[in-house]
Amino acid sequence: MHILVTGGCGFIGSNFIHYWRKEHPLDRITNIDALTYAGNPQNLAAIPANDPTYRFIHASITDQQAVHEAFEGVDVVVHFAAETHVDRSILGSRVFLETNVLGTHTLLEEALKRKNQLWRFHHISTDEVFGSLPLEGNERFTETTPYAPRSPYSASKAAADHLVMSYVHTHKLPITVSNCSNNYGPYLFPEKFIPLAITNLMQDKPIPVYGKGLNVRDWLHVSDHCRAIDAILHRGAPGQSYAIGADEEHTNIEVAHRLLKAFNLSEETHLRYVEDRKGHDLRYAIDYSKLEHNLDWRPTISFDQGLTEMIAWYRENEAWWRPLLPKQLPS
Ligand code: NAD
Repeated sequence: MHILVTGGCGFIGSNFIHYWRKEHPLDRITNIDALTYAGNPQNLAAIPANDPTYRFIHASITDQQAVHEAFEGVDVVVHFAAETHVDRSILGSRVFLETNVLGTHTLLEEALKRKNQLWRFHHISTDEVFGSLPLEGNERFTETTPYAPRSPYSASKAAADHLVMSYVHTHKLPITVSNCSNNYGPYLFPEKFIPLAITNLMQDKPIPVYGKGLNVRDWLHVSDHCRAIDAILHRGAPGQSYAIGADEEHTNIEVAHRLLKAFNLSEETHLRYVEDRKGHDLRYAIDYSKLEHNLDWRPTISFDQGLTEMIAWYRENEAWWRPLLPKQLPS
């Protein structure tokens, strides 16, 4: 396989490249990334500069010529590149539409020109396109949940998902889509909740918690996400979408308390409640039974284990996260 990864210098993209190189060492990877604030070449520093199986193209997925060159010889696309931070989309949404919608459109148009060469185009999306669930009850998102995005970020991802599916129906492109819950793990930019909390505690600063901290997320370890994408590429059916989750629903305040305990610090000194995010979605939860029954995938890393490993990783990799602090959104 020769895989074109978009956004491979970001959190999930770089974890995916490391995963794929380990599991499928004979495959080739081309990575196209614009290196926005969220793209960090250090995430892939372990790949030797002269490695013949890896190629990096520093360009935007909205750049038609660069995308044309990136597709050269490729038979599979895994499309991660996006603007991803909800808070940034509330402050300014235009770039979200440019990258998430028009960037996806640029990739689809190039894929269409190369329909005979392409074996699969996998589009990475989020559970946030389904909106917000009530805090009470056991309702969970599935592949058939109606779309109801509530932030500019999730609206731009929903638009991209619809566009992608339109190329399945209209042009018969061999596309799969996955809608995933919140990921955590190494290389997560320290403005997202868990790494922000860990790196704050490491600097003797409090964890900022929105509102009363009651919002619930289903936390999936990034390596389980990479395994799910592998399963979809190898065993999934074109035209299908797959919901990916972890059965690990936790409130933000519970996550904050776990971290305080791990650092042996108290809520009184190291937790700060801040004004709630505008339109903050209450709860996300995923029913991943389609993936489990059809593709024999299930999560393998518990939140307990993954969080402990993540704390250890941030402790050992201060040289990775410290230079990123000036790029954080102020919290
Ligand atoms: P990230 O913000 O860490 O990385 C995004 C990457 O895309 C960066 O390397 C950035 O430089 C690159 N990029 C941005 N604009 C680009 C452009 N115009 N052209 C080329 N590259 C560009 O994101 P992430 O958390 O790794 O998320 C990856 C994908 O997974 C996204 O599509 C996101 O919507 C989806 N997703 C993320 C989560 C999560 O919890 N992080 C959950 C579900 C789905």
